[in-house]
Amino acid sequence: MGLQQSKSRALFQRAAKVMPLGVNSNFRYWGPDDTLIFRRGEGAYVWDADDRRYIDYRLAFGPVILGHAYPAVLDRVRQALESSNLFAGTTPAEVEVAERIVRLCKVDKVRLTSSGTEATMHALRLARAYTGREKFIKFEGNYHGQADYFMFSTATSPAGALGSARSPVPAPSTSGIPKGMHGYVITLPFNDLERLEERVEAVWGDLAAIIVEPIMGNSCAVMPRPGWLEKLRELCDRYRIVLIFDEVKTGFRIAKGGAQEYFGVQADLVSYAKALGNGFPIAAFAGKEGIMRTIEAGGVAHAGTYSGNAVGTAAALATLDLLENEPVLETIRQRGQMLMSGIGEVLRDAGLPHSVQGSPAMFGILLGSDQTPSDYRDCLQGDAALYKRITFALAERGVLAEPDFLEAWYLSYSHSEQDVAETLTALEQAVRAAK
Ligand code: PMP
Repeated sequence: MGLQQSKSRALFQRAAKVMPLGVNSNFRYWGPDDTLIFRRGEGAYVWDADDRRYIDYRLAFGPVILGHAYPAVLDRVRQALESSNLFAGTTPAEVEVAERIVRLCKVDKVRLTSSGTEATMHALRLARAYTGREKFIKFEGNYHGQADYFMFSTATSPAGALGSARSPVPAPSTSGIPKGMHGYVITLPFNDLERLEERVEAVWGDLAAIIVEPIMGNSCAVMPRPGWLEKLRELCDRYRIVLIFDEVKTGFRIAKGGAQEYFGVQADLVSYAKALGNGFPIAAFAGKEGIMRTIEAGGVAHAGTYSGNAVGTAAALATLDLLENEPVLETIRQRGQMLMSGIGEVLRDAGLPHSVQGSPAMFGILLGSDQTPSDYRDCLQGDAALYKRITFALAERGVLAEPDFLEAWYLSYSHSEQDVAETLTALEQAVRAAK
């Protein structure tokens, strides 16, 4: 018996006949008996096809910063649809979204896209065009979307494929990537200053970019060590390399101005997506005038039929309005802190070695050791099987967190103190059941 009850099971079986794995994004697949079908969301809750309610900490993998079906966002989207949904041209809403991003994130220029993958892909292209170099550094366990260039040593790569920490090997995260792609990417462990400096000094002449998730949003929310992001900035300045912050998860979530504001380090280019539209399809890449101007000179192509669509821009305007005018992130921070420390207590009382890290808006839990992880290799030492059993036991008790231990827990403005308290009670029981 899995998590599916009768209606989820029937719908999943129909889905599996017409969609590979029965899902439209591989990360959503929890196995043939456990992949749920969701019918409805409201605030901090989602309901599955059998009408079971869950407190949701997956939040669509991060975007739902305000809450599901948030009225102010839905109203703005409905209103926007009164005057159509897409043009082959710029709308006032696009101008306003770009102006807001410029103001909040202290960037010079913005281009809107529809997904995080498009945003990171174009950022890398700009970096190459700007520097005239082709290679880039990415960090093990960071995920930057589905473009072939980035699908190496992501959070699906097994430890044995990564090579030694001294001399890492880029491990393909999927079949179907041309062999040549391998030659463009250099993978390194996150937070390893010495290794980073050594590699950059050896190959800087070929390096267009260093791309980084400032918090490892796809690997247990591992935090940057003090000085790590500053070192990236310093090396990029010294060798004229473009520093790209992939803020698809951190943007508009850990601070209004994202990781740049949170850590006080400014990148050259930044990608945004998820929380920008509370779950509606809108994303962006943005950055410094000189680099973004490579588009304006007509040299670099960026296009997207759905870029700046009415639904995404309306959702972004409503979301940013709330972020600016209500204590959204402060509330999330307070509830997130309660949850993080409560989880720590439950695990401690149960005698389970663990570490809880990240920002209260987006944090990770690693079981099996009391050591705070500092890179993806540390994360892989965690007890994935026990974590999965706990999350399944939680789901049975009406709380949804991702069973993949590498994925973060997300909070929204709609999660109440009562939700946090219920979650902790469910966790106590789930831990007992899973042990
Ligand atoms: N970058 C990061 C850091 C992400 O977490 C993701 C998605 N999880 C992406 C890029 C890709 O975004 P999308 O799924 O919208 O293409």
